[in-house]
Amino acid sequence: MSKILIVEDEEAIADLEKDYLELSGFEVDIEHRGDVGLKRALTEEFNLIILDLMLPEMDGFDICREIRAQKNTPVIMVSAKKDDIDKIRGLGLGADDYMTKPFSPSELVARVKAHLARYERLIGTGVQENDIIEIRGIKIDKTARRVWVNGEEKNFTTKEFDLLTFLAQNPNRVFTKDELFREIWDMESVGDIATVTVHIKKIREKIEYNTAKPQYIETIWGVGYRFKV
Ligand code: CA
Repeated sequence: MSKILIVEDEEAIADLEKDYLELSGFEVDIEHRGDVGLKRALTEEFNLIILDLMLPEMDGFDICREIRAQKNTPVIMVSAKKDDIDKIRGLGLGADDYMTKPFSPSELVARVKAHLARYERLIGTGVQENDIIEIRGIKIDKTARRVWVNGEEKNFTTKEFDLLTFLAQNPNRVFTKDELFREIWDMESVGDIATVTVHIKKIREKIEYNTAKPQYIETIWGVGYRFKV
């Protein structure tokens, strides 16, 4: 039986979701606090996680990021604000789906079923759990944090690696320097968005054949950068 974790601080909503999911044959646990929800998501085996955005102790942004750093469990993020959903998408946190509250319980059940089926197909076919990203001659081993360019290993600093990996796993999407800075550097970090430019330059020196004509990380003038596939 598929086991689902609901991390939601509004008890009435959590109970309603649980009732409907149980009626559909799922086993459901609820956590009301963000930090406790994250701990359970990481230490226990759930088939899917329904994650509210605004939560006590730790918000859904951080929880989703932490889960994705360690696991591929499908995550459906929910929020009362449409703006927040747009923000979550922009951050590329790796959530599998997004829903704006209020939604109908039957809609939730339908999406849960769809994601479980998709995830099982993925596992069933033995597809690698995203530890390795390979794009046109570049191979990134996320687990070992190593990078090869046309078979030759290149050394990257921690932030260079994080930035390259983030761009490569969100291909063909344009990110502003500001978004990249917020994604890769802590809020407390010293520095500013010029740091992003410097790191992009260093990454290009390692992966591009001709840094004047980048084939991988493109500059979108006046906007930001995009990893082209
Ligand atoms: Ca909430």
